[in-house]
Amino acid sequence: MTHSLPLFTITSIHKPEGYVILELSLLLKDVPGAIYSASNVIKSYNGDIKWGVTHESDKPGLAWWCAFLLVKEDLVDVMIDSLRKLDVVSELNYTIHKDKIIITKHHDSIICLGGRAILFRTEWLKHIHAAVGKTWGKEGAKALAYVVGVDIGKAAHESHVGFVGDLKEELLNFLLDMMKGCGWISGGSWEKDGDKYIIRLNDLFECEVAGESHLVRGELAGYVTAIRGRDYKATEVKCRARGDEHCEFIVEPVERVL
Ligand SMILES: [Zn+2]
Repeated sequence: MTHSLPLFTITSIHKPEGYVILELSLLLKDVPGAIYSASNVIKSYNGDIKWGVTHESDKPGLAWWCAFLLVKEDLVDVMIDSLRKLDVVSELNYTIHKDKIIITKHHDSIICLGGRAILFRTEWLKHIHAAVGKTWGKEGAKALAYVVGVDIGKAAHESHVGFVGDLKEELLNFLLDMMKGCGWISGGSWEKDGDKYIIRLNDLFECEVAGESHLVRGELAGYVTAIRGRDYKATEVKCRARGDEHCEFIVEPVERVL
């Protein structure tokens, strides 16, 4: 059952009177039961774990477990002391958050497939889209987004080949999975009709922001161009923003992309 994923690093947690929200980062021995031991200590002080992640550390044999939890203000010190005494705990950092919006103090960047990732809220993208349209005109902005998209598609293909191998058109499945993992779409599918590719995207962010797709349309063209080694163009023939169930793209060969 798929569902949406709240962002760990910027979040909001309801705090009852007398409680504080604690950001806790534990560098634990990377063994089964380590998180269980730590969470049992938290439970024994009536701490309530609201949101957590576990991730690799740069130290061999040790992994981070990072969580936001609710705990009574007067129990913070004793609970932290007990956690420090656990033999699975190699390092412990904690921060008490008092604001309604909680922004991590313990993480300074987001890593995805070994590279740095950044996030934009779609609200921001609406402003970027409006500003580009004002500066280059509506048609200019569409062309710019498409050209940028084609380049992104070619670059994405090269990087995906590096990660999963040159799977030819099966790479389209990886592209759709990556788009879903990055929150660009809620799902997608593709099929072939002769030389054409029909690609369907559900809940594409760009159409929510801009009312039609040019960046992702370009990306699909660039990606298929790189797979096939000849120029392809992409046309959006159905769009969620126009009331269709999903956005549908026809990606077909041309003599030149531009
Ligand atoms: Zn669309």
